[in-house]
Amino acid sequence: MNPALPALPALGKNAADFLKRPRLLYIGGRFVPAADGKTFPTLDPSTGAHVTDVPYAGAADVDAAVTAARAALDGDWGRLPATARGQLLARLADLIEAAAGELAELEALDGGKPVAVNEMMDVPAAIEHFRYYSGWPTKLEGSTIPVMVPGTLCYTRLEPVGVCAGIIPWNFPLMMAAWKLAPALAAGCTVILKPAEQTPLTALRLAELVDEAGFPPGTVNILTGDGATGAELVGHPGVDKIAFTGSTAVGREIASRAGAAFKRVTLELGGKSPNIVLADADIEAAVAGAFDGIYFNSGQSCVAGSRLYVHRSRYDEVVAALAAATREAPVGPALERTTAYGPLVSAEQYHRVRASIEDGIAAGATLLAGEVPPADPEGGWFVRPVIFTEVTPEMRISREEIFGPVLVVAPFDDIDEVVALANDTDYGLAAGVWTRDLGHAHALAARLKAGMFYVNGWALGDPGAPWGGMKASGVGREMGRANLDAYLEIKTVWTVYEPR
Ligand code: NAP
Ligand code: MG
Repeated sequence: MNPALPALPALGKNAADFLKRPRLLYIGGRFVPAADGKTFPTLDPSTGAHVTDVPYAGAADVDAAVTAARAALDGDWGRLPATARGQLLARLADLIEAAAGELAELEALDGGKPVAVNEMMDVPAAIEHFRYYSGWPTKLEGSTIPVMVPGTLCYTRLEPVGVCAGIIPWNFPLMMAAWKLAPALAAGCTVILKPAEQTPLTALRLAELVDEAGFPPGTVNILTGDGATGAELVGHPGVDKIAFTGSTAVGREIASRAGAAFKRVTLELGGKSPNIVLADADIEAAVAGAFDGIYFNSGQSCVAGSRLYVHRSRYDEVVAALAAATREAPVGPALERTTAYGPLVSAEQYHRVRASIEDGIAAGATLLAGEVPPADPEGGWFVRPVIFTEVTPEMRISREEIFGPVLVVAPFDDIDEVVALANDTDYGLAAGVWTRDLGHAHALAARLKAGMFYVNGWALGDPGAPWGGMKASGVGREMGRANLDAYLEIKTVWTVYEPR
């Protein structure tokens, strides 16, 4: 399945114009093809159509980008005062805002995320991320230490870690680019960004906006490519830090390679996050929250609430309401304004999710809502919301991250039981509870092993609020002051002013 791109009435002039321009790598402030001229196609997941080709960055391009990033760090960017760094970040936020509609369309076309969702969430979140971090450069203060040694001054300097590689996934392309670029730049680092092969377009548009904002050449470099491009970056001796979001398997590989080379690394990986409904919950709110918690972005979210535990006294009611909602879910092409749930990002992801659904059925779970999608779909990689009941904790559908619109639901009888069920996972990204009892809410917040905990809500976020996971869900935190620490080194300076 790879038809020609159909007429796209929903694509506005600016997005259409972008597609008419050549797509080039951004290295050292210049737009260039891959050194060896290689390209690869990107497809529209709503139709399977070929959208365009983008450059495939290889080892020579990675090397050129790292060289440019180092030169900027040691040169014009490194010499900029903190105020100027903040102003450039703020200017970039304004430019993204001015291009918001176009970016929302490109994201929909390339990744299959509904245009309305991009406008409501992804693009504003990216803008706010740059705005939030634009305030930080002028506030990164070291400290003076009241040391024991008489006649000495001891103070700390916060210095940028250096050249950073940001390797990002396809589920929130522009937002992930912002999550990697903004804190690194605020800290004074330079960056090479590698978007996912499935969704290169908004990163390439972002390169134009970075250029327009006036960052010194080499401060930000953008390389489209695949996992091999990412692996080149990880292994390049000129890269000081890697910030990765993606699968736990690739995260583990990156962590071990970075560890061996003593590179700094932060990892935002997968999850199998438990969402708990207590007997006293506002059931209408819990059902809506659980539904959105799993099916938002068609389940392709690290923070998806993919395991739902409902107190037995409310189980039938919750499951029936969820099943009814799945049947009404507006699943459709991403550029249609009425679509709330788009296709999966790629044929590969479609078949991966499809195999998980088949596996759940084979393991004996009940497919309460949704269906096994066709083996050979026509016109896009759509999977309607699925609910499994009669699941056991050992089943793969209860344990493995599916990264698709697949929810497993199970009843529980008491709090200790649900805590044990919820914590019985390799992951630890998010967890949540729906209840009117604050005592229960905060007791569960303390007992669940997860980097983020939601009471009567799901997947809330703010650029100032730390985001990340425990256990196999990652290392370090993104967002907020916490993320800046990952891009800063502390240097301790001693001065003897009264020699003894
Ligand atoms: P992935 O392989 O982990 O991809 C994430 C990023 O890492 C992409 O830019 C990818 O490049 C790059 N990459 C791949 N192999 C690499 C390597 N050896 N060294 C350095 N970089 C490398 O994820 P995926 O294959 O797209 O998705 C697979 C599964 O990952 C999903 O089903 C889901 O479970 C999980 N996932 C999690 C998140 C999250 O938000 N935590 C996001 C996406 C996927 P290319 O894609 O260009 O090859
Ligand atoms: Mg695509």
